[in-house]
Amino acid sequence: MYYPDLSLYEFLSDPRSQGALNVGWLDIGHPFTTGTVTEEALQKILKLCMLPVNQTRGFHDCQFCGKCGEMGVEIKSIHGTIALGSAEIRVKASDKTYAAPNLIYHYIKDHQYLPPNEFLVALENAVVDDSLNQNIPGGIIPAGRFFELATDDYCIAPNLEPHPPLGVFREAIAKIEQQGARVFCEVADIDDGAAICDALLIATDQPIDAFNEFAAEFGADGAQAGDGQSRKLMECLGRPNVWRIPWD
Ligand SMILES: [Zn+2]
Repeated sequence: MYYPDLSLYEFLSDPRSQGALNVGWLDIGHPFTTGTVTEEALQKILKLCMLPVNQTRGFHDCQFCGKCGEMGVEIKSIHGTIALGSAEIRVKASDKTYAAPNLIYHYIKDHQYLPPNEFLVALENAVVDDSLNQNIPGGIIPAGRFFELATDDYCIAPNLEPHPPLGVFREAIAKIEQQGARVFCEVADIDDGAAICDALLIATDQPIDAFNEFAAEFGADGAQAGDGQSRKLMECLGRPNVWRIPWD
């Protein structure tokens, strides 16, 4: 999907995007400007990718490299893995809004794309709501990362008795991920470097009923709909449902 930089946004008809200007809608058929973007600007774009707009179901691949799978371009950060290619970001200036595909992060980082200067100025002045990022600990990390930080059985569902071994949890969660879901752990606390998880978030195509059995087997308080904040984060992953499995 190619649009020239600073042309009027028209990709999705969204009243909130009226008058927005396109930035970073690159395509193999059109050369683009390259250059250096500061790490600070890049990190701000990554934060905006955690607060995506106009999420769509499918993924646009990066046309400039071959490493993009069907799940889009994966970016790993301390905030978890996000898949770029199916959502947009907005950068607001006082009198303008810029609309970019979230792939812009990848284009800048891996293909040295240099956005128009006015976009970079707007980005520098933009205040990005950091609340998702300030939330670690008390945050959300990929299950794989959690198990790296977990040191004993009671790192997950600390109040559960009788308590299954950590390895049994890990295997059951791996099985859920093998079925196409992405599992994240809500970290309630970091205790002497060990993460303590008291709820799972599952981003998935499957209905909530599919996880009742897991919840019952592991003594959780059932499966419920994820809250707004977890949804925001999970939407980056392009799954329609986010289910939360808490232990009290
Ligand atoms: Zn690429």
